[in-house]
Amino acid sequence: MRGRIIRVSGLQCLVEVEQSHWQCEIRGRLKAGCRKTSSPVVAGDWVDVVPTAERTGVIETVHPRSSKFSRGASGARPFEQILFVNMEQLVVVVAACQPKPRRGFIDRTIVMAIKGNLQPVVCINKVDLVSEEAVDTLTAPYEALDYPIYRTSALRGDGIGVFKEALINRSTAVVGQSGVGKSTLLNGIEPGLGLKTKKIMKHHDRGRHTTTTVHLFKLQEGGYVVDTPGVKELRLWGVKPAELATYYPELEPLRGQCQFGDCSHLHEPGCAIRAAVATGRIASERYEGYRRIFVSLSRNE
Ligand code: GDP
Ligand code: ZN
Repeated sequence: MRGRIIRVSGLQCLVEVEQSHWQCEIRGRLKAGCRKTSSPVVAGDWVDVVPTAERTGVIETVHPRSSKFSRGASGARPFEQILFVNMEQLVVVVAACQPKPRRGFIDRTIVMAIKGNLQPVVCINKVDLVSEEAVDTLTAPYEALDYPIYRTSALRGDGIGVFKEALINRSTAVVGQSGVGKSTLLNGIEPGLGLKTKKIMKHHDRGRHTTTTVHLFKLQEGGYVVDTPGVKELRLWGVKPAELATYYPELEPLRGQCQFGDCSHLHEPGCAIRAAVATGRIASERYEGYRRIFVSLSRNE
């Protein structure tokens, strides 16, 4: 039987099989070679299940993944934590204010989305709290990227209809720092959905830092949504400083135009990217973010 992983808790998985939820265990040989810190299956995985009893089974095979979203988790040694797989798009939700939007969080999320083969989407929530100009200023650096940008007020309902349309019949992951209005937004998409996500977080994640319970929700109108409660920080995983620029789509047309082939775009003479920032062709906010991420990645090397 083919199924989809809804949630993983330890060695037990909740699997959607033909519209119902099954409790499944992971076949021993799938666990071989997997480190203690990671599971061979992740929320979003497509799997084959052999039934053992009523709504119970054993996961025999995991199908190849079309996308994944990881972050670096810190343990005794840092390791890759795959948060979910097989999602099509990743919505990064930020509040126009309260809490103050953090560009670094948006930029890191976009880097990991592109790396993991997910379509990045930006959602600016709480637009009711600031002027339209302030929202324009916030979105401006991202306009050149050609990614969908939504402006919503989950409280007032602005933009919710359009945002919801983008979610129907697709697999969407939502990330955002706590307080940006993710739950309110999800409630706006489907009544009760945000509440469900909060409940699951309370139940599973209290007091834990590196773990987060990722749970897939099925939308009544079709599609899946995965919320990622507890993802407050996003440490990049598997990105080398030298390849960081390849995750900035707006830098693509300038590739190979710097004087030095191994240009870091930080200080070298004849840097085409810094020249493009100076003329305003590349958004300076994005470039500054690039610099900061580059430096932090170099430090970790
Ligand atoms: P979460 O932590 O991201 O799930 O955020 P919540 O959905 O719990 O919302 C955090 C707070 O922001 C709550 O007090 C919400 O009522 C409020 N909030 C959510 N969306 C909006 C919005 O669009 N405008 C305003 N003004 N407040 C909002
Ligand atoms: Zn350069």
